[in-house]
Amino acid sequence: MAKVLILGAGGFIGHHLAHRLKAEGCYVVGADIRPPQFSPSPADEFHIGDLRDPAFCLSIFGSYDRLYQLAADMGGAGYIFSGDNDASIMTNSAQINLNVLALARETKPGVLFFSSSACIYPDPMEYHPGIYAESTAYPAQPDSEYGWEKLFSERLYLAHARNFGLNVRIARLHNIFGPQGTWDGGKEKAIAAISRKVIAAADGGTVQIWGDGTQTRSFLYIDECLEGIERLVSSSFMQPLNLGSDEMVSIRALTEMIISISGRKLSIQHVEGPTGVDVRTSNNSLINNALNWRPTSPLRRGVEATYSWIESQMKS
Ligand code: NAD
Repeated sequence: MAKVLILGAGGFIGHHLAHRLKAEGCYVVGADIRPPQFSPSPADEFHIGDLRDPAFCLSIFGSYDRLYQLAADMGGAGYIFSGDNDASIMTNSAQINLNVLALARETKPGVLFFSSSACIYPDPMEYHPGIYAESTAYPAQPDSEYGWEKLFSERLYLAHARNFGLNVRIARLHNIFGPQGTWDGGKEKAIAAISRKVIAAADGGTVQIWGDGTQTRSFLYIDECLEGIERLVSSSFMQPLNLGSDEMVSIRALTEMIISISGRKLSIQHVEGPTGVDVRTSNNSLINNALNWRPTSPLRRGVEATYSWIESQMKS
């Protein structure tokens, strides 16, 4: 039975990953500063503590077949792009990654997975049209401090692979969404935030979205994200790899899709707010070559599942 450690097991992706790995028969140890928000963790052991604290990290480290490092100080556009949280985001996440690597050097997990982000890519207006192949990360110019910390930490993991022989895997995740994700409170992301606004609006009313709605993104459903992580972890590919959908959608078209799922008549109102870069999507050539697989699930299917879960939460 494989023994795995999930750091950030109380978070959206970590909680789903714990379910998947338990179902596959792993012995799952989870750690987070808080338990999962919406349902209990299925982990065999769940340790509550602060991964910025080396003593807490020491208490949960040991011999693991796989270690998944998903813990980070993060949130949606309102949290990452406002500038108000920059110092905390950089300090907290870098401290966690430094602690993890100091112990991984000693304990040598079979595979060490690090969750990087599409936010490491440079501003598309200056460099290229926003369809990011992995090689376009440099020259680096992420548009947020969150992205800079992820890029620094990618390099930190790769340096530890080089100098200490750690068996590292790095995925650059692009907008993961699904049920059991945060949908209010300021850290929610686009699909959850727009779904909440649509559900809360009175029939015939309006839904506010940030910016003019022409920003385009792609969104990856959680099940395909986990499939990609597992395929990457089982491969021998050690360079950072995009894990995202290449189905591009503007925020306005996404909002229209969610309104149509709701079956109600609502109009869209554009308001000032943080929007991030104009265009960002995943180029999936490398993942296709490296893993002989790439995400293909249609966006609407995942949005429907997420919408109905948020609706059930808001009505309960
Ligand atoms: P999340 O915020 O739901 O999960 C992160 C977890 O880390 C949270 O449960 C949080 O409590 C925990 N954490 C933060 N600081 C901690 C600390 N000091 N000690 C212990 N635990 C701490 O985020 P998620 O969506 O599950 O993302 C998981 C990882 O994937 C993160 O590293 C994130 O940066 C990365 N990522 C996610 C997306 C996405 O769209 N969800 C996109 C790109 C990258």
